Amino acid sequence: MAKQEDQFKKVVSHAKEYGYVFQSSEIYDGLSAVYDYAQNGVELKKNIRNYWWKAMVQMHENIVGIDAAIFMHPTTWKASGHVDAFNDPLIDNKDSKKRYRADVLIEDYVAKLEAKIEKEVKKATKRFGEAFDKEQFLATNPRVVAYKEKGEAILKRMGKSLENEDLADVKALIEELEIACPLSGSKNWTDVKQFNLMFGTKLGASADTAMDLYLRPETAQGIFVNFLNVQKTGRMKIPFGIAQTGKAFRNEIVARQFIFRMREFEQMEMQFFVRPGTQKEWYEKWKETRLKWHLSLGMGEENYRFHDHEKLAHYADAAADIEFKFPFGFKELEGIHSRTDFDLSSHEKHSGKKLQYFDPELNERYIPYVVETSIGLDRMFLAVFSHSLQEETLENGTTRTVLKLPAVLAPTKAAVLPLVKKDGLPEIARKIVNDLKWDFNVAYDEKDAVGRRYRRQDAAGTPFCITVDHDTLKDNTVTIRYRDTMEQKRVKIEELRSLINEEVAIKNWLMRM
Ligand code: ATP
Repeated sequence: MAKQEDQFKKVVSHAKEYGYVFQSSEIYDGLSAVYDYAQNGVELKKNIRNYWWKAMVQMHENIVGIDAAIFMHPTTWKASGHVDAFNDPLIDNKDSKKRYRADVLIEDYVAKLEAKIEKEVKKATKRFGEAFDKEQFLATNPRVVAYKEKGEAILKRMGKSLENEDLADVKALIEELEIACPLSGSKNWTDVKQFNLMFGTKLGASADTAMDLYLRPETAQGIFVNFLNVQKTGRMKIPFGIAQTGKAFRNEIVARQFIFRMREFEQMEMQFFVRPGTQKEWYEKWKETRLKWHLSLGMGEENYRFHDHEKLAHYADAAADIEFKFPFGFKELEGIHSRTDFDLSSHEKHSGKKLQYFDPELNERYIPYVVETSIGLDRMFLAVFSHSLQEETLENGTTRTVLKLPAVLAPTKAAVLPLVKKDGLPEIARKIVNDLKWDFNVAYDEKDAVGRRYRRQDAAGTPFCITVDHDTLKDNTVTIRYRDTMEQKRVKIEELRSLINEEVAIKNWLMRM
């Protein structure tokens, strides 16, 4: 646990030191769970967004994007169920006065059981060596099976109680499991209460005509209310999708994990409209497609897993999370939800406007069903950043800090370094920068010894360093150094563009899907 915390602290401080993420309003001691993206962070974030947009919108003939406003008519949130049901169950510890999400306390308890299972697996791997059959061990070892069954039973009971709004049973479960406040160790809990997560605001200048509004808690509703506009003007035929990226706001109860859970964050969502009755197939297809998108970034298959929901939201008939192994354990990164016709039907009722599709093949009118994929951009940023930050011990015994960002996402693709600040080398380096910057984000760096500059670029996540030296003057060649392997190659200046492009082009990464 301590090791995990250390690793996470390193992630937070590295993000600040290398210009990725700053606390919002830091000079006023910050604002809780609100963050600003700095000069490198904004590039990484934009690259992740582009990588998603390319894969989800531009590579599909039947998916288009929109950019709806953050403000929406307040009835939207009545129709979507957010006014009545967008609550988290909260519980206070009477001794520490700390507030927790009751479901998160219980999920953390189950995560500890999972950690125990992992420990057993590790021990057995050591004991049995080559002959170890993990699947069989997980299915038959009595201790492991007991942990697993206990965890499943707890989640099932919690899911049921939350669904039935039986908050007394959620509290009873916390007490039966003897869950203590992580801060004070006390088991002195208040009752569990519901807390609405939407931020309210007002539209209009005069007090009596002002309208109560909410900052949108998800981008999805902007897609639903535009469904017919897009379908008609884009002449879309079912099945088709509408995607968007944008800010969402939630007054989160617990927000302690850096950019994992923020009060202002960005989502990347796609709603896929299908014929009623076909939603299960599409749900499976999108689960698979989204996992492949993640795997295309090469961050290790073992770091992802699906978590199928026991407790379904009011709008869903199936739901799963793609979980990623963050420094604090496996947590939700993306949700895939089969939302039925809940949203469109409800908007139809509340607006009095028909939101139906005429299916020319069936010669029939119906409200489409929807499968949604929803990922937090900031959470994806944290997944990529925390996975990429590594400490390596080199052959000579020294260590280096390297941010092994997938090259396609790296903020700066290459740094051009004149070996010395004289003899015409800076001029050549500048010329290379000016030429490459049409295609890639590149940097020029002439300060300090070249070795230190390499280390600086390694830690900032730049995949290539291009060094201009005295041989360049003779034969127009430069050294290109690869961040991950530290391998160095001599190449012609004219080859640089295609060499870098090969490694950073979105196409070459998405083709792995
Ligand atoms: P959680 O259970 O972690 O609160 P959720 O199930 O409420 O998340 P969804 O409503 O399904 O989340 O939102 C889709 C995605 O948006 C999540 O998978 C996550 O990546 C992201 N997300 C949700 N809430 C936040 C937040 N407060 N900060 C950052 N990202 C968030």
